[in-house]
Amino acid sequence: MSTDYLVVGCGLSGAVMARFMAEEKSKKVLIVDKRDHIGGNCYDYIDENGIRINKYGVHLFHTNSKRVWKYVNRFSSWTRWEYKVLGVIDGQYIPLPPNITTINMLCGKHLRNQQEVDDWLSRNQLKHEHIDNGYQMATSRVGETLYEKIFKHYTFKQWGRYPEELDASVLARIPVRNNFDDRYFSDKYQALPTDGYTKIFENILDHENITVRLSCDYFGIDPSAISNSTIIYSGPIDDFFTNVGYPKLEYRSVNFEIQRLKNTKFFQPCAHVNHPGPETPFTRIIEYKHLLNQDSPHTTIISETTCSDGDPYYPVPNKRNIELYEQYKALAEKERNIHFVGRLASYKYFNMDQAILNALEYCDSNFSI
Ligand code: UDP
Repeated sequence: MSTDYLVVGCGLSGAVMARFMAEEKSKKVLIVDKRDHIGGNCYDYIDENGIRINKYGVHLFHTNSKRVWKYVNRFSSWTRWEYKVLGVIDGQYIPLPPNITTINMLCGKHLRNQQEVDDWLSRNQLKHEHIDNGYQMATSRVGETLYEKIFKHYTFKQWGRYPEELDASVLARIPVRNNFDDRYFSDKYQALPTDGYTKIFENILDHENITVRLSCDYFGIDPSAISNSTIIYSGPIDDFFTNVGYPKLEYRSVNFEIQRLKNTKFFQPCAHVNHPGPETPFTRIIEYKHLLNQDSPHTTIISETTCSDGDPYYPVPNKRNIELYEQYKALAEKERNIHFVGRLASYKYFNMDQAILNALEYCDSNFSI
């Protein structure tokens, strides 16, 4: 087990940190994961229909960071891919995030240009003195009608809480557009890895100083075997400090229901269809065949239903958890030779590019000479 650095977790943050230590610092790195594969929640594979799917939910890469874009291009070729998302609302397919067409279809309007949308929005947006929660954020951007149809129930299904019980930032993640732009993201770089996400991890970890050990639970490792190693921990921060006895942080997990439809060209008009209404338990259905126009006589669809039990996916940004996390963070800061990095260890709702940037910047601040 002797190694300079032991990296816990083979997701984005762990892999980026491992590569940095191996390549830039010429350190021996052992990276472990309790799952039997690399890639964390980005892991993808080709299924029996010949379609590449993400095992842990759809992953859409987008960034405005030149640094991140340059970094990921070292380890993969990418195909530009501008994501389109539709929502099934009032029995129709509606573009999301909200744009002119969305407003016209859901509110029976005939708005034609930015000025008309801006006027309509400013008449409908609720004016709050402070934006302290997700409800205030959403209604201050789109007004009550669109809030009810797009955000209220979806958020409840996603988080097990209504928007008023969540931090405002959650409801500010997707844009509101006063034009016809129907892309889900506005970032400069939007792409899919040409050979899949797992391949990127294989390439990042392909270094003579890196050893990967899978199906290996960090908490099962004999501490004396790693007493001379520095630990980089990217798992849930509250799991690390279980012995302290603080309450657990809350996470949302996801259940995936896979349906393989034989001899079916397509099930739905695009890869990603949200179901914001209360009539379904799931939040979205992903038809992976659309992504990069994959060819198969069959199709695979996966519906995503969030839940409170299971592997942690999303930190739940509400007051209780944000305050509790600060207590865990204070414990983490007292540790010597242990670094806490990544979405679960930092309890932050990072997108993929933010996870990469955060890991790179952590290296800049902590390990650069
Ligand atoms: N959201 C919503 N309706 C939608 C899409 C998003 O209410 O149709 C809200 C919901 O609270 C969600 C947040 O916006 O958690 C951010 O959406 P995003 O697509 O970024 O979520 P992710 O892809 O990370 O699950």
